[in-house]
Amino acid sequence: MSSPFPSGLYGGRLTIDLEALAANWTSLNGRLDGGAECAAAVKADAYGVGQEHAGRALFDAGCRTFFVAVPTEAVALRACLPQAVIYVLDGLFPGTAEHFIQHDVRPVLGSLCELREWTQICRTAGKSFDAAIHVDTGIHRLGLTPTEFSAAMRDQDLLGPFVPALIMSHLACGSTPAHPMNRRQLDLFREVTAPFPRISRSLANSAGILMGPDYHFDLARPGIALYGGQAIENKANPMRPVAKVEARIMLVRDVPEGDTIGYGARQRATRPLRNAVVAAGYADGLLRRASSTDERPGGFAMIGGYRAPILGRISMDMITLDVTDVPQELLKRGALVEMLGPSVAASDLAAYAETIDYEYLTSLGRRFERVYAPLT
Ligand SMILES: *Cc1c(COP(=O)(O)O)cnc(C)c1O
Repeated sequence: MSSPFPSGLYGGRLTIDLEALAANWTSLNGRLDGGAECAAAVKADAYGVGQEHAGRALFDAGCRTFFVAVPTEAVALRACLPQAVIYVLDGLFPGTAEHFIQHDVRPVLGSLCELREWTQICRTAGKSFDAAIHVDTGIHRLGLTPTEFSAAMRDQDLLGPFVPALIMSHLACGSTPAHPMNRRQLDLFREVTAPFPRISRSLANSAGILMGPDYHFDLARPGIALYGGQAIENKANPMRPVAKVEARIMLVRDVPEGDTIGYGARQRATRPLRNAVVAAGYADGLLRRASSTDERPGGFAMIGGYRAPILGRISMDMITLDVTDVPQELLKRGALVEMLGPSVAASDLAAYAETIDYEYLTSLGRRFERVYAPLT
């Protein structure tokens, strides 16, 4: 898929490195011991990098099981990956079981209601259709309570011919391995699944893989780490960057000392500044919360190894950068500067925007030129 317009007409470029994505999957897969399978979470358009491209690249790398969030994502993914196992994390929406079966897609059953609706279909058909059961071990979003789960698994009237293909649970605090919640969830997951040694189990997201073999079970479901994100806080990130966002310089100008920059006049030049205005903004996913004010510094861009702090508010379609200390020859009109990527980690930007890199990635703009190529 090439972008429809000439390159120079775009305000910015999003480059996605599918080789790095595949390499990240291979590296996570390598951290699992022999028995465990490495799946991939490709929900939200594969964290913004493109579900179809990512799905194919991961399948080619050896991934066979995929997790999406909603049924529409599953149907779209099935169209490009006829062989893959596809799970829908949000589970079974009412009255949709026939679509799951038609597209050979598996719901992660997240409540007794969903389990009943699915087993009813299985009883009618006289066979088990594959699905996972989600057990809530403490996050209190989706999932049967441990009590509901244990009772349901003994209730042959409820189950009929249905046998779950997978029992899964989700960690609430994986990004902080020292949090006692991780151990509690691990112990509870082991306890409730112990009576079913023949059914596959899955607990680990990216952070769970990095936390070590106790968390691996039979299947791991990494997302953020595949896309180069930071799964565990305050720790060196072992993954390769997958996405790079560059924005085009429209204008470089001087701002006299004492004048303000941007909407709301919230940032004043404390010395004479040089200011580069680039053609991307919050409408492109460069979150407005990373704006800069006199009280609180904002995010930054990188230009040929020089750091260019954001000045003032991030607008819908443009951002102003402090390029006072950047050599003139790097500031040509039309040049692209890195707003996010190998030298501007999404997790670093996220710290300024009071969010996590997941939000940066899943916000990546639809207005950029999109290029699938190695990051250089
Ligand atoms: C999104 C998600 C994942 C992947 O999580 P990462 O933190 O991105 O690795 C795994 N399991 C569930 C239930 C999820 O919702």
